Amino acid sequence: MRAALLEQHGAADVLKVVADYPVPEPGRGEVRMRVRASALNRLDIWVRNGWPDIKLPLPHILGADAAGDIDILGEGVEGWQVGDRAVIDPGVSCGHCEFCRSGHENLCPDFKITGEDIRGTNAEFIVISTRNLLKLPDHVSYTEAAAASLVYLTAWHSLITRGGLRAGESVLIVGAGGGVNSVSIQIAKLAGAKVYVVGSDSSKLAQAQSLGADELIDRSVEDWSKAVFTRTNRQGVDVVVDNVGKDTLFGSIRSVKRGGRILIVGNTSGPIAEVDLRYIFRKNISIIGSTMAPHADFVTVMKLVFEGKLKPVIGATFPLEQITQAHLALEQGDVVGKVVLEL
Ligand code: ZN
Repeated sequence: MRAALLEQHGAADVLKVVADYPVPEPGRGEVRMRVRASALNRLDIWVRNGWPDIKLPLPHILGADAAGDIDILGEGVEGWQVGDRAVIDPGVSCGHCEFCRSGHENLCPDFKITGEDIRGTNAEFIVISTRNLLKLPDHVSYTEAAAASLVYLTAWHSLITRGGLRAGESVLIVGAGGGVNSVSIQIAKLAGAKVYVVGSDSSKLAQAQSLGADELIDRSVEDWSKAVFTRTNRQGVDVVVDNVGKDTLFGSIRSVKRGGRILIVGNTSGPIAEVDLRYIFRKNISIIGSTMAPHADFVTVMKLVFEGKLKPVIGATFPLEQITQAHLALEQGDVVGKVVLEL
């Protein structure tokens, strides 16, 4: 089969598309899917570059998100037929530990992300457990479904399940670009919240506005945490989504209302941040982390995508053979919306 292989870590041109990679065979409870679309995420670039103690068997296949057709069924599979359209939940868990049994699969000690810890979706075929499959309605394209899953499930779990965001609350999203931040704007609007966005330039803020952001703060021209304070009648916001980390956490702590919540699903500017603890206890702030999502959240958020209530923005599509160009497009940040490989 065709597959994009990562044979060594490095820049985008280390990816090599081959035509003769062995086709995987499904095990018990698994299906083989013919991949029709596979979306790119920042995660792919981090894994491709590697980090000092990374121990990934090479060659590796990147890609978390996929939608396609069921090609063959493994032993014991029920409820699925060859030819069914489906989208995958990229979070893979053991299925029998206390967390999996209580519906918190993302806390499973064996939790893995497709394409990060195990071989991913940048290939013609993948095998996956039926526990990770969701039927894809005919009116939703493979490209749209693949573009949605990882970013929407991550943002939904953080904002709604962990963050408890309610109608009438205010949310500040720190950083206008980035997949999870863009979908956080859509989810917060759907939840009935007022959305403030801090961005680094006017074009990113214009994009945030087109997704529904109510208040735009350009950090290149104003002190953003002071601007939040002023625009909220010196109250601050109920919830801050801060996936930037080191460079912004202090501003987020200043921007949040007394008793408010700061949600963290990532740290694009670096993982180690200094915190003035006096603000945390004097303001009764909750700092809430989350990673990926349990399968139930994936199902909930994908149904909203299927109903058209959440709409993934497709920025660019590439054939698998142009995966290097696709990585460069994502890396250079000149594409607004998701970059998707179509097979
Ligand atoms: Zn488990």
